[in-house]
Amino acid sequence: MHVTVAGLGVSGVPAAKVLHARGAIVTVVNDGDDARAREQAAELEALGVTVRLGDTASVSGSAAGTLPEGTELIVTAPGWKPDKPLFQAARAAGVDIWGDVELAWRLRGPDAAPWLAVTGTNGKTTTVQMLASILRAAGLRTAAVGNIGVSLLDAVLGDQEYDVLAVELSSYQLHWAPSLRAHSAAVLNLAPDHLDWHGSMEAYAKDKGRVYQGNRVACVYNVADKLTEELVREADVEEGCRAVGFTLGTPGPSQLGVVDGILVDRAFVENRHKNAQELAEVSDVNPPAPHNIANALAAAALARAYGVPPTAVRDGLRAFTPDAHRIAHVADVDQVAYVDDSKATNTHAAEASLASYESIVWIAGGLAKGATFDELVAKSAKRLRGVVLIGADRALIREALARHAPEVPVVDLDRTDTGAMLAAVREARRLAVAGDTVLLAPACASMDMFANYNKRGDAFAQAVRELGA
Ligand code: ADP
Repeated sequence: MHVTVAGLGVSGVPAAKVLHARGAIVTVVNDGDDARAREQAAELEALGVTVRLGDTASVSGSAAGTLPEGTELIVTAPGWKPDKPLFQAARAAGVDIWGDVELAWRLRGPDAAPWLAVTGTNGKTTTVQMLASILRAAGLRTAAVGNIGVSLLDAVLGDQEYDVLAVELSSYQLHWAPSLRAHSAAVLNLAPDHLDWHGSMEAYAKDKGRVYQGNRVACVYNVADKLTEELVREADVEEGCRAVGFTLGTPGPSQLGVVDGILVDRAFVENRHKNAQELAEVSDVNPPAPHNIANALAAAALARAYGVPPTAVRDGLRAFTPDAHRIAHVADVDQVAYVDDSKATNTHAAEASLASYESIVWIAGGLAKGATFDELVAKSAKRLRGVVLIGADRALIREALARHAPEVPVVDLDRTDTGAMLAAVREARRLAVAGDTVLLAPACASMDMFANYNKRGDAFAQAVRELGA
């Protein structure tokens, strides 16, 4: 088969290699032509793969794109927008377009491990890691893979054998994965994100909803987020597959929820109209912030759908530690807690973060990516002791604060240099009183000031250490 691989990089290079090894005639097109791309191209060319670097005509040109001669299938990097000329040309020629997930799904063997899939706007990484931890506690061979940075192709075709996989899927990956059929799947929540890519909220939700397509055992949804439940209703699933909700309140039948500080299961028990099964205590969840308890319930629901016993849910949650920069407690200085949630790169994540503390000095700002801040500020106003703003789009947050929290003191640092973080932490310390939390939850991307959100969080932690010194 003649296959065109669109884009080098983390998914393109392994895809090209695997396809070539299986006898396909592979052409890679890539718009960039930098040193890294040339290095990757040289490696592939040595194997016999054709690589077209700087192929702007088919990749990003405005004219009708040209498909490489003889193309019968395109395998694309997940981030490539569907309106590229190359894809228009493919659709016109009736050529299928698969993403890396679709390719992995199709190439997995007949006895391959089933997939428990997780998507949503926020909480995906945390939830798949919790899920993998629970599955491991049950003695199952598993891994957290997918959008989390572990290639599905490697997981599916590598030497390691798995019983079941905990798979994180982005909306882009789902868009390009038409035949994926998970054992069970969860959509954690849905808030506007990546709308420039998908074109509309409707299209974004539709792509997320693909995760439920063909589920065999359970479609897990968020009771507090009606959109997720609607997606379950619209999904075409296997006969007998159940809709299972998770809620921070008391669970109804076919739900998991919380009763008196206990996570309970009323879905995967006998006689769910009368019975409930204790799974774990809220204090077993790290950190026990509301949104994270929701993540734990979603992970528990998928694990229970797979048949994992209640004790493994508890043990797995206890064994789980979150990745860095996700509500990470850095230090207490003068009875004020300093918390790094640099990963809160959009307003929905920041809202969850702010809802986790009673009295907050909030450090925010960065690149807004087209977001508006009115709803976030209005919902969080009563918790704010003060706000320190940094970064390129801080004026947007300042204006929202003026509209919805005019009495809250705001320090606008008017800075976008890296050193601004130390100044921000010093200002935050000045505003805070004993018992408060200084929370870095920027609601924005970091790239105006830092290489990435990790570096932003590191700068915050470093600044806090300098305070304490
Ligand atoms: P993702 O992989 O979807 O980006 P992460 O688990 O890495 O999600 O968490 C990213 C950020 O989103 C966290 O730092 C936290 O601020 C926020 N977050 C995590 N879980 C939730 C949730 N269930 N609802 C809202 N925000 C969340």
